[in-house]
Amino acid sequence: MPDITNTGFLTAISQQSAGVSIELDSVTKRYPGQPAPAVENFSMNIRPGELIIFVGPSGCGKTTTMKMINRIIEPTSGSIRIDGKDVLSLDPNQLRRHIGYVIQQIGLFPHRTIAENIGTVPKMLGWSKGKVAERVDELLRTVQLDPAVFANRYPRQLSGGQQQRAGVARALAANPPVMLMDEPFGATDPITREKLQAEFLRLQAELGKTIIFVTHDFEEAIRLGDRIAVMSERSQIEQFDTPANILAAPANEYVSSFIGQGAAIKRLTLIPVTEARLLPAAAEGTPSMPIDGSLRDALDLIVLTGSASINVVDPDGQPMGSLDHASISAVLGAGSLPVGGRP
Ligand code: ADP
Ligand code: MG
Repeated sequence: MPDITNTGFLTAISQQSAGVSIELDSVTKRYPGQPAPAVENFSMNIRPGELIIFVGPSGCGKTTTMKMINRIIEPTSGSIRIDGKDVLSLDPNQLRRHIGYVIQQIGLFPHRTIAENIGTVPKMLGWSKGKVAERVDELLRTVQLDPAVFANRYPRQLSGGQQQRAGVARALAANPPVMLMDEPFGATDPITREKLQAEFLRLQAELGKTIIFVTHDFEEAIRLGDRIAVMSERSQIEQFDTPANILAAPANEYVSSFIGQGAAIKRLTLIPVTEARLLPAAAEGTPSMPIDGSLRDALDLIVLTGSASINVVDPDGQPMGSLDHASISAVLGAGSLPVGGRP
């Protein structure tokens, strides 16, 4: 039975531009016949418009947790609230139409064209043909697939990266306030992946949705996340914090091992050059970088050019000052960069 109240609530949250909150409260999932729960006592509060990353090993319960949020599966115990409302009180089909879901392995319908794939949910929501077509066109452009080229193709006629763009477009179709993205860029090569990440960040800056994004790739987590949940077995949260805080102070050995080598270097990626104290501009001919770059870019340039210092220039190419190894190191705190044979 369609529930008028539920539909009203879901329509209302869909019209909120700033995303909605998601609260998980002691959520546990036991699959029948499994000795241990897949997800155990998982609690997390996600603020409206936050982009949360789940990272953790295969089998730790990331997909299960996402599927409980859109009620593809039901928790054994605990509760999940979207914008304060228990998801179990909402009609599951209606709920799913209001949560964008990009599944692992893309999951486009193989026998439907790209346009039909993207229009699936709007069509189910009863939009007119014209409105669906208009939306499909707009979304294809948003994910940078030319509608004239791609709308009438079938998924197999697209590359992995193009299919993933189409998958993201399909999840965005009904403008859902919540997006669940399960390794959405998993099947792409590093260059395509970087492009997709950049587009995705641009899109999110515009749309401000509440997003849970699963990845295996810690670099991707750092680049995209407002906060990262580092998970271990049975979805235990080892640390849940901003990328900068996790890199600066991993909670334990487990988190450190996830970060891998070069935590200091990764931190530099997050810090703009403007955070460093600039030295007077160096002589003409010194290698230079733009003022909107990161300290990682600065360090790369020093290493690649072998120059003792580099100039930072404004958009007109005028030197604003210079940086050397020590001034970069100083931003991280004394001794943070592996120089002079530190272990
Ligand atoms: P992840 O997405 O982090 O790789 P999953 O949520 O897919 O992890 O799986 C968590 C655990 O639950 C794994 O041990 C997996 O084998 C088990 N599991 C997942 N789906 C089912 C299912 N339908 N029936 C039984 N066990 C399952
Ligand atoms: Mg998974």
